[in-house]
Amino acid sequence: MTQTNNMILDVKDLRATVNNIPILKGVNLQVQKGEIHAIMGPNGSGKSTFSKVIAGHPSYTQTGGEIFLNNEEISDLEPEVRALQGIFLAFQYPIEIPGVSNTDFLRLAYNMHQKSKGREELDPLTFLNFLIPKLKIVGIDQSFLTRNVNEGFSGGEKKKNEILQMALLESSLSILDETDSGLDVDALRTIAAGINKLKSPENAIILITHYQRLLDYITPDFVHIMENGKIISSGKAELAQKVEVLGYDWLKS
Ligand code: ADP
Ligand code: MG
Repeated sequence: MTQTNNMILDVKDLRATVNNIPILKGVNLQVQKGEIHAIMGPNGSGKSTFSKVIAGHPSYTQTGGEIFLNNEEISDLEPEVRALQGIFLAFQYPIEIPGVSNTDFLRLAYNMHQKSKGREELDPLTFLNFLIPKLKIVGIDQSFLTRNVNEGFSGGEKKKNEILQMALLESSLSILDETDSGLDVDALRTIAAGINKLKSPENAIILITHYQRLLDYITPDFVHIMENGKIISSGKAELAQKVEVLGYDWLKS
C-alpha cells in the first residue's frame, strides 16, 4: 500500500524474538491520524511484545519486517530516539523509580521532548504551573507530584500517572498496554475520560486490552485480534463485542 501523509504507524510483516524464541510472526498494522485502534487477544498472544518491539525495548529482537513512524523507518533507532520522534508507550507494569520525585521525572521527560523539538525548556516553577492543570485530566492529586515515581502508588494511581505522561508529551502515537487492568470502575472511567480528552485529529492511540470493558468507554475505530504472534482478525468496534460474548476460540483457524 502507498503511504499517505495521514499515516502515523505502518507496520509490515513484523517479526520478533525474545530470548531467541519467535513471538511475533508477521504482524501488519496501519494506523492513521485521528484513529483509535484496539488490539485484543488471549494472554501470551504477543500483545505486550508488539508494543515493546515498536518502542524499541532492548530485550526484544526484531528479526524481520518494517516499522514506519510518520513515514520514517524506525527499526534501527534507539528507544529514546523513537520516543522523541513521537512514540509513547504506557507499560502494562509501570516501574517504580525510588529517589526521583514525580515532578522531576515528568519535567525531565517533558524538557527532553521540548529540546528535541527546538522549543524552550521549562524551569521547575514554570513547569509546575503548566503541569498542575493537566492533573485534572486524569484526576490526580497534587500530592502525587512530590512522591517518588510510582513508589507506593496503587495500580490505578500508576496507570493515571502513565496517562499524565501521555498528556504532557503530546506524542503522535500512544500505545497503552492494559491500561485498564486492575482498575476499579471509577478509576477506569476517569482514565477512559482522560484518554478521550487526549484524542486529537493529529495523534493516534493503540489500546491493548484483554477485556472489552475499556471499550465501553472509549470507542475504537478499529479492533484487531492477536493470536500466536499474528493479527488474525480485524474489524470495527463490534468485533470487540463479539469477542466479549464468544471468546477468542471461534476466530482461530
Ligand atoms: P500478551 O501481552 O498478549 O499477554 P506477551 O507479549 O506478554 O503476550 O507474551 C507473548 C509470549 O512471549 C508469551 O509466551 C511470553 O511468555 C513470551 N515472552 C514475553 N516476554 C518475554 C520475556 N521477556 N522472556 C521470555 N518470554 C517472554
Ligand atoms: Mg501483555
